[in-house]
Amino acid sequence: RVLRVAIMGLGSYGTRVAEAMQSCVKAKLVGVISGTPSKIKDWQSKYGIPAKNCYNYENFDSIKNNPDIDAVYVITPNALHHGMVLRVAKAGKHVICEKPMAINAKEGQEMVDACKKANVKLLVGYRMHFEPKTLEVIRMRNSGEFGKILFFQGQCGFKIGDPTQWRLNKQLAGGGSMMDIGIYAINGSRYMTGEDPVWVTAQETKTDPEKFKEGVDETIQFQFGFPSGATASCLSTYNMNNLDRFFLDGEKGFAEMWPSTGYGPIQGRTHKGELTQPVTTHQTVQMEEMAAIVFDNKQPVVPVNGEEAVKDLKIIEAIYQAAKTGSKVVISL
Ligand code: NAD
Repeated sequence: RVLRVAIMGLGSYGTRVAEAMQSCVKAKLVGVISGTPSKIKDWQSKYGIPAKNCYNYENFDSIKNNPDIDAVYVITPNALHHGMVLRVAKAGKHVICEKPMAINAKEGQEMVDACKKANVKLLVGYRMHFEPKTLEVIRMRNSGEFGKILFFQGQCGFKIGDPTQWRLNKQLAGGGSMMDIGIYAINGSRYMTGEDPVWVTAQETKTDPEKFKEGVDETIQFQFGFPSGATASCLSTYNMNNLDRFFLDGEKGFAEMWPSTGYGPIQGRTHKGELTQPVTTHQTVQMEEMAAIVFDNKQPVVPVNGEEAVKDLKIIEAIYQAAKTGSKVVISL
């Protein structure tokens, strides 16, 4: 059975997902939801989308009556995810939502609850959970090849451009670099170590308060402690390039991935040599796997459900609190 998907939000990432879906076998782009009629027209002709599967932000609740769409993939600015997902759930369609799932844990939990109530799946666009080299490192860790895990380092960031974009608007982004790119270090620290953090300390630096206004973090360094005693040291930034690196250290070996989460080929090595798993288009594999999760109840190696995404949001809140207060904050997930 093919997962028939409507994409909501035809921006840069929505376009990337649409292109990647052209190579899918188990998932198909069949509909769009957009506020821009000209984009809808372009997408209709490019992807052969029938008029009956095109919606705008006012009328998309009527997707409920459309038997030809199984799921809606929400790819709008962060702060809009919550309201949109509640409406999609109410319309009885499965939901795929981009990261960060919401701008705080409370809204995230409401999304989880709404999807549960509507008996629809809620999946979050954590594409790295399906990336072959990442999965190999996780396999090696699970089989004990690194020995006891001691330390993780995650450095995630880029120098952001246009100061007027929504990513630098607290109302639409919910924060700054942490919401957008730092979340990869958070999520990565969890899937690389196989544990959830129990405490965090954090330090914020802001070199350009004009560009990065109140509530929009430019650079935050944060440290986690895990139940096993392992620790992590991470960096999230909107003001430095070349930061896309994971390092995992254990008693018997290590893994280094650089790039670790970018779209391009992920590269890495362990104490046993280069990681040679195939290069994939992340979004193609993600959508194939998500179709199997929705229809076959397939359990991915690393879960991509709403509950897992709420954990990342709780951790983000703890990081912000730790950065603000300068104290060690206990995390309870
Ligand atoms: P974008 O600005 O390119 O696209 C956002 C789209 O939302 C645009 O088409 C815009 O018209 C639409 N939109 C609807 N209502 C809007 C409003 N009120 N204000 C502004 N835009 C509005 O952004 P993007 O890079 O496509 O990011 C969208 C989402 O995808 C974000 O949540 C982001 O974190 C996520 N994302 C995920 C990845 C990933 O690798 N998983 C990569 C990039 C972006």
